[in-house]
Amino acid sequence: MGKLIDGKKFADNLCNKIADEVTKLKHKNITPGLAVVRIEGDPASAIYVNMKAKKTKEVGMHSAPKILDKNTSQNDLLKVVEELNNDKSINGILVQLPLPKQINTDSVINAINPDKDVDGFHAINTGRLWTNIDSLVPCTPLGCKMLLLDELKDLTGKKAIIVGRSNIVGKPMASLLISENCTVTIAHSKTENLKDEVKKSDIVIAAVGVPEMIKGSWIKPGATVIDVGINRIENGEKKLVGDVEFSEVKKIAGAITPVPGGVGPMTIACLLHNTLIATCRKNKLEIPKFF
Ligand code: NDP
Repeated sequence: MGKLIDGKKFADNLCNKIADEVTKLKHKNITPGLAVVRIEGDPASAIYVNMKAKKTKEVGMHSAPKILDKNTSQNDLLKVVEELNNDKSINGILVQLPLPKQINTDSVINAINPDKDVDGFHAINTGRLWTNIDSLVPCTPLGCKMLLLDELKDLTGKKAIIVGRSNIVGKPMASLLISENCTVTIAHSKTENLKDEVKKSDIVIAAVGVPEMIKGSWIKPGATVIDVGINRIENGEKKLVGDVEFSEVKKIAGAITPVPGGVGPMTIACLLHNTLIATCRKNKLEIPKFF
C-alpha cells in the first residue's frame, strides 16, 4: 500500500515558517500585502478566494480582496490592476481565474507588474522560469515540486510524466522537473497509448480535470503519484475527487497525494511563499529558503 503524502501537514509547516518571516519583516516596518481580484459569478472561485484571504491574514500579511461585479468590463478590470500595480502596500496581485467571457485573460495577466505577479503566469515570469532566471513560479507546480523533493529527496534521472499541458500547471511543472534532472514527458488529450506512457514513469503528475481518469493498472509499481485534479462529483453524495482513481492507485504506487488534502493546500501556501519572496525582492532583502 502506497504511503500517503500529507500535503496539508506540509503546507501548514510551510505557512508557519512564512509567518515567522513575516514577523521578522514587521520588525523592519514591512508588511507583505496580497490583493486577490475576483469577478463575481463563479461559486468555486468565491470559495478559493475566501480561503486565500483567510490564510493571508493567518500568516500576518495584509489581505486586500477586490470583488468586482460580474459585468465588469475589460477596461475597468485593467484599471483595477493598474491601481494595484501602483499601490505601495501591495506586493502580490492575483486575478482569480476563470474570468467571464467579456474579459481577455491573457491581456489581464500580462498587465500585472511581473514583480507582483505571485501566480507566476505573466509571460515574463514564464520566460524566466524556462531560462532558469529567478522568477515567481506558478503556485500549484511549485507545491508539487516541494512535495516530490520532500518525498524522494533527489529527482535526478527519474522518468516523469505530466498528464495535462495547461499554462498554469502542466507546462511550468515540466520546466521545474527538467531543472531537477528528470526525463519529462508531457501528455495531453491527443497523446496515443497514454496508459503505456504512464506505466513507464517513476513520477506521475495528473492535471487533467477528468475525475479518476488515471487507473491503478496504468501505474508502475512504486511510482510517486501527485494528483492535482479537483473535481466535484455527485454520486449519491457530493464529493471531491482527483484525476487519479485513488482507491486502486494507492495499492500500486509507492506514494500518493490524496484529494482533498494533497496539492490543494500547497497551492495556497505557495501563493503566500511567492508574496513573501516578492516583498523581499522589492525591499532588497535576502530571500528565505524553505526547501
Ligand atoms: P486545463 O483544462 O487547462 O488542462 C487540462 C489538460 O488535460 C489539457 O492539456 C488537456 O489536453 C488534458 N486532457 C484533458 N482530457 C484528457 C484526456 N482524456 N487524456 C489526456 N489528457 C487530457 O486544466 P488545468 O491545468 O487548469 O487543471 C487541471 C486539473 O487540476 C483540474 O482538475 C483543476 O481543477 C485542477 N487544479 C487544481 C489546482 C490545485 O490547487 N490543486 C490548481 C489548478 C488546477 P489538451 O491540451 O489536448 O486539451
